[in-house]
Amino acid sequence: MKMHLLPLLGLVLAAPALLAQDTMPQWCRELPRAQYKTLARVPVKSGWFEVYKPADGVFAIYEPHQSEETISYLILGRRSALLFDTGMGIADLRKVTSELTRLPIAVLNSHTHADHVGANWQFETVYGMDTDFTRANARGSRDAAQAEIAPSEICGQLPPGFDPKTYATRPWKIAAFKHSGDRIDLGGRTLEIIATPGHTPDAICLFDRANGLLFTGDTYYPGQIWLHAPETDLAAYDASIRRLAALAPEVKIVLGAHNAPVSPPSVLPGLVDAFETVRSGKISPVPASPGKVTFASGQFTFLMAAAPSAQVAAVLDDWHQAASVADEARYFSHFAPNAVFMGTDATERWTVAEFRPYVKTRFDAKSNWTFHARARHIEFSGDGKTAWFDEMLDTSDLGLCRGSGVLVLLGGEWKIAQYNLSIPIPNALASEIVKKIGAK
Ligand SMILES: [Zn+2]
Repeated sequence: MKMHLLPLLGLVLAAPALLAQDTMPQWCRELPRAQYKTLARVPVKSGWFEVYKPADGVFAIYEPHQSEETISYLILGRRSALLFDTGMGIADLRKVTSELTRLPIAVLNSHTHADHVGANWQFETVYGMDTDFTRANARGSRDAAQAEIAPSEICGQLPPGFDPKTYATRPWKIAAFKHSGDRIDLGGRTLEIIATPGHTPDAICLFDRANGLLFTGDTYYPGQIWLHAPETDLAAYDASIRRLAALAPEVKIVLGAHNAPVSPPSVLPGLVDAFETVRSGKISPVPASPGKVTFASGQFTFLMAAAPSAQVAAVLDDWHQAASVADEARYFSHFAPNAVFMGTDATERWTVAEFRPYVKTRFDAKSNWTFHARARHIEFSGDGKTAWFDEMLDTSDLGLCRGSGVLVLLGGEWKIAQYNLSIPIPNALASEIVKKIGAK
């Protein structure tokens, strides 16, 4: 959902005194969003969360200092409260909810991506949808959380006492499984669970029918909607948003899980129309980060996975680009663990572990290389999980070369499993060169 618009643009003219301000990410400069001025704000002690009251007995707990701008909802009944998502887990959410209500609180997540479950561990009663995706995520994870606290993702200060080194999504216990159609009675308020798989297999919406409140999680929010993850199912998403659009006449407020809490019910049929336009191929994709594209239709923008050939090409291009700027970490992030690199010399058959020290020495000595693909062919296996390619390369020190190899799909990402670099020898020179090699 985040928009990273040219985050480095501000650096170009930065004077040293202004550096701190100019490294502020673009999304952060655009805050606060206009809508928040129209909402009733509820004071809390935390400097990390901002709390608003978009409807009677509903608190929107917003995290404006992190690029996801996640919103969790505390929904009150007479007897108990439901917390729909628990945010990033960067600051103490339990402290905030205890300032807002004394009712017993149960947690249910709109889905179990890391930015919605961060403080689940702080609560005794956490319901879960009965899916393998939910069960797997309840074990916690570290990588997704770590990526969320890179400097480009933070706006202002992390909370005092926060330790970036140990930041992770902590595991939680699922107290009971819930299913689509289940009702949660809070006393004077009933919430219906509507399974809306698509963004993830366990994505749900909550419908407070009596009050016309539809909590949509990441199925809809007023920002770029993320549909690029390996666990995303576009056909399921399409069916889910049609179910929601059918409810629109009964909805007064749509409350999404990012950016801003209040949207009109007209977004529900609007979303169906926009997604249909995108799926019909009437809109051209705009390249986003490597392997991803955006589609914009009216007020809706979707971030989706690029076509497989574009994803493979993006990996190879980014890998070459990483070499040209001697970025060792990025260069090696594109290899499969069991990858093999073959250089132009017959002795050069390297595993990743053997190749890394060689590359590091060259990158450190600034004797890195620039390869630019002038032509490339990519083919796929029938199951779509293996790709092979060949490319003609303009190179900085070997002239025209050929690269060929194999990529494999691992955890939804294309990784280079084999790369073979060769110097094509013109036929007219072949016998002479073969003789020279024989004489050596
Ligand atoms: Zn999500």
